[in-house]
Amino acid sequence: MDKVIVGIDIGGTIVRAGAFDSNGNLLVMRETPIEAARGPERGLSKIQGLIEQVLAESRAQSLTGIGIGCTGPLDPARGTINNPFTLPTWEDVPVVGWLQKCFHVPVTLENDADAAALGEYWQGAGRNAKRLYAVTVGTGIGTALIIDGQIYRGLDDSHPEGGHMVLDTAGPVCYCKAHGCWESLCAGPAIERQAREADLTNSQLLRISSGEPEKIDARMVFESARMGDDVSLRIVERVSRYFAQGILNIATLFVPDVLVLSGGVMRSVDLFMPELQRTMQTCAEMVPANRIQIVPAQLGYYAGLYGGAYTIFNKHL
Ligand SMILES: [Zn+2]
Repeated sequence: MDKVIVGIDIGGTIVRAGAFDSNGNLLVMRETPIEAARGPERGLSKIQGLIEQVLAESRAQSLTGIGIGCTGPLDPARGTINNPFTLPTWEDVPVVGWLQKCFHVPVTLENDADAAALGEYWQGAGRNAKRLYAVTVGTGIGTALIIDGQIYRGLDDSHPEGGHMVLDTAGPVCYCKAHGCWESLCAGPAIERQAREADLTNSQLLRISSGEPEKIDARMVFESARMGDDVSLRIVERVSRYFAQGILNIATLFVPDVLVLSGGVMRSVDLFMPELQRTMQTCAEMVPANRIQIVPAQLGYYAGLYGGAYTIFNKHL
């Protein structure tokens, strides 16, 4: 292979690297645990090693650039990661400068939600959508807005956090300090909390979790809802209502052409769809909410890699 672009996705537990050809085809992908708590220096060497590995395996003659998507907060302009929350000890880590010094090529850094949305815009479910809004529901809720292939940024390049819009001021308190933000009502941990707080007598959840409610995860709630378990169905119903309300707020604010849904919780999106579709159909007075295409993401765990690579593809090819 002649020239390649490398996309990197740095998450709280895993770092992935992929080599892409100049047509945007993923040639090789490798991943390794990031082991963030062992320090940024060790993490950066791991990333360097992973890049060298995918370059060797793709038989690249030359490297055009490296595009990184990373769990934030981070500073795209300075090229630094400042995320001691999900990457313990990673404060003000100059990942861009480090990789530029190692490989002597352009290096970009984006928030992971933005990178995943760019990936879906480039090669996935939102291909070439003029206005694309992406929502990832997993351990948290990440959002991104892509307009004409460009990431929408806020003041000082800040990344808007749609997952922390408030939907219920009487709701549970979140680490963002608000009560009842979207994430605190609908993300995986919120679903688990609701299960643990419920009366589980006679519930399938108790059997699935072998009688240990603290082991219940969102996947178990979905599984038992499908089996008709009352407690789980009530949780799914409540979460569906808040989920649909959040999507409707986004529709009302931005009226995107395409809305892409991804993340672990969204693997069970079929359970949320009836309420979501009903809401979008009945609340379309002010904006054409009923005409927004709501689609599942197509690139799965690789969306961030594609998005990272796209930032280089867009600027340097
Ligand atoms: Zn919050």
